Amino acid sequence: MATNIQSTLESLHDRYRPLNTGAVATYIPELTKADPDLFCIAVRFVDGTGFTIGDTDARFTLQSCSKPLILAQALSTVGRDMVMRLTGVEPTGNSFSSMVGLDQIGKPLNPMVNAGAIVTASLLPGDSPEDRYERMRTNLSAYLGSDAQLDAAVYDSELRTSDRNRALAYLLKSKGTIEGDVKQHLDLYIRQCAISANTQQLANAAATLANNGVNPVTGKRAVSAEYIKDILVVMLMNGMYNYAGRWAYEVGIPAKSGVSGSIFGVVPGVMGIAVYSPRLDDYGNSTRGLAVFRDLSKRYNMHIFDQRGPK
Ligand code: GLN
Repeated sequence: MATNIQSTLESLHDRYRPLNTGAVATYIPELTKADPDLFCIAVRFVDGTGFTIGDTDARFTLQSCSKPLILAQALSTVGRDMVMRLTGVEPTGNSFSSMVGLDQIGKPLNPMVNAGAIVTASLLPGDSPEDRYERMRTNLSAYLGSDAQLDAAVYDSELRTSDRNRALAYLLKSKGTIEGDVKQHLDLYIRQCAISANTQQLANAAATLANNGVNPVTGKRAVSAEYIKDILVVMLMNGMYNYAGRWAYEVGIPAKSGVSGSIFGVVPGVMGIAVYSPRLDDYGNSTRGLAVFRDLSKRYNMHIFDQRGPK
């Protein structure tokens, strides 16, 4: 079994390494420094076994992959009703940093786009900015299965260039959807995006969601089982931005991508999968990541609505 899984990963890695379409994100200057050829695939099963291939030591920032994990912390802090009141679960059909509709509707459509994630960051608990950050970092560590570290260079770079997120945040404050110190909330949001991980750690996070909220490596609970379906539905409907419909159709695995080039996907009750490769398509999704997930889903009947079940 183990040999089969490792050789599957090897064949996927060999098959998609030549795929060089797409481009590394440039709107956060520090991200342009990523080596575009980096490529790693990792899986973690709910029994705790893990497999990985490629650039296993490569580290990247979570970026939007942090969003479902912060949504989970917001749900645990203020509850489902409040989160639903301030954001929603509807796909936007627009890019992840879009402002379309925000002025009219007054709240983001879901917590996987930037506006929605800034709202969930604003709900994170703590007595001071340091305390809020520390609690968020502890929360992310529980998913990754290791002490989460901030990539200071990416954090500084995004802080200096995030005028668009700033605009979204102040608009939301003017609508009453965000309360309190906008600058502090934004800082927290930018920090969550700048937490770094390797691919196996990201697969651990996916496996934690696949394992009803318990990290299968550490055996520690990261989130109450009560919220798992909330998080997975939001990931399936919105995790791949305005590609979400095609993704649900072709791949059918709740997943989230980030502009550093990572994608993590959850096969409930079975495993977590993560791919890292920095070249992105026009939607902001890793091109090799998409190819690997499409292939895996088809090869092993991983689509959650495929009633033949994973093989
Ligand atoms: N930090 C990035 C931003 O706010 C995250 C976006 C992403 O990964 N899609 O733009």
